[in-house]
Amino acid sequence: MWVLWTILGLIGALLLVTLVRAAFWTPERAESEPLPDETVDVEKYRKDLSDAIRIKTISNVDTDKVDWGEFQKLHKLFEERFPLVHKHLKREEISLASLLYTWEGTNPDLEPIALLGHQDVVPVAEGTEQDWTHPAFDGVDDGEFIWGRGALDMKNHLIAVLESVETLLAEGFQPERTVYLCFGHDEEIVAAKTSGAGAIADTLKARGVHLDSVIDEGGAILDLKVGSILNNRLAGVGIAEKGYADYRVSVSAKGGHSSQPPAHTAVGTLAEVVRDIEKHQFRATMPDFVYDLFCKIGKNCSYPARIVTCNLWLLKPLITFVMTKIPPAASLIHTTTAVTMANGSPAANVLPQKASVTVNFRMMPGTTLKDVEQHIRQSVRNKEIEIEYLKGKEASKVSPTDSRSFKILESLCTRTDSSMIVAPYLVMGGTDAYHYEEVCDCIYRFAPFVMDTKLLLTTHGTDERIPIACMGDALKFFKRYIRMMSAE
Ligand SMILES: [Zn+2]
Repeated sequence: MWVLWTILGLIGALLLVTLVRAAFWTPERAESEPLPDETVDVEKYRKDLSDAIRIKTISNVDTDKVDWGEFQKLHKLFEERFPLVHKHLKREEISLASLLYTWEGTNPDLEPIALLGHQDVVPVAEGTEQDWTHPAFDGVDDGEFIWGRGALDMKNHLIAVLESVETLLAEGFQPERTVYLCFGHDEEIVAAKTSGAGAIADTLKARGVHLDSVIDEGGAILDLKVGSILNNRLAGVGIAEKGYADYRVSVSAKGGHSSQPPAHTAVGTLAEVVRDIEKHQFRATMPDFVYDLFCKIGKNCSYPARIVTCNLWLLKPLITFVMTKIPPAASLIHTTTAVTMANGSPAANVLPQKASVTVNFRMMPGTTLKDVEQHIRQSVRNKEIEIEYLKGKEASKVSPTDSRSFKILESLCTRTDSSMIVAPYLVMGGTDAYHYEEVCDCIYRFAPFVMDTKLLLTTHGTDERIPIACMGDALKFFKRYIRMMSAE
């Protein structure tokens, strides 16, 4: 009997502790002193962005297929629209069409900062041109949105940086730290062997430059509304990005005529291999920053909900398990495996001599290309398989969240909107920022545009567009960012 009473007593005590803990489990008081207002010219920004979208700076794996004239047009547009930038900053063309601008700081002892952007965009998928409300390269401004390829990824960001520097120069602002504007030309080429951003980073490295911080695309500001439980804005700051790997896995067999087939053709044998690969997923573990993200959101929930969220530490294994069952959530906590392409014989009546699948992996920081190959070998029972590495890149390093630059980013957000939750997160795709690891430890991927998820999903897709309502705040953000970040 006493065992029962002890258990009941313990449960009661836990409940009591939880109730009290939930009451006090609230967000750390963010710095909320409002920032001085900034003058911005949204009309000009709208026009410049529309015109930039009209220039088809489409990158291609095969550089012979790139229309370099379009990049020259974009460079000309920059020169015309941003005369002060071109008067006061040193401009260098790097690699094929990348640009490096240097805005010399007044204090050479301080480490410089860099604002990144890419000039290229992805093409419109063939056959989907007619699905667009407005043609992808018309840069239509209908008063509510600016439509077109690059409106979100990332001519919006690139032009905003240039507008902000132009306005700061017009106001006579001088940075203490040197400010670099680094605009690559081929970010959209996944795992390219050489890249514009890489060439810029190499140039800086050769000059002995070490950067205080880098800001690039990656995160956004999302509305977090869950009934009466949560009503905040979430600024996701990418502190790391996943790795990328394509492997081809093949099995060989005797060929021959399909009229006299064996029990299993190479394709049949390969089916087993695919099954093994899919069955043995990488183990999921919740990284600290994902847990921190949940804690930050949890602390901002209203009281009754906090009774649950304040016990996240207890629920961690359960949450991790549930997350593995939801693909978008699972991608945050494990290296993903996707079998994407398959190949057999060249004709329907020919037995394949070789059959292969291509598997795409997105690695968590800490999992290397080598680990992936080893994982394939261990997962597949058939030891006759051939594994071929096609292309890839390692996951990035993880940038600190206690650095001067992260804290400035955080205070910039909370001083603009005190309800904003600034949370580090993991970027799924690749960014140019990855190339700057050798010259910088504090790399943050963040675009200061308030966006709903539905719009974010138009990136690389049909009807990519940016709401005009968020453009003024983005300009203010970059002006403040340069003011605060370039000071000592
Ligand atoms: Zn991009």
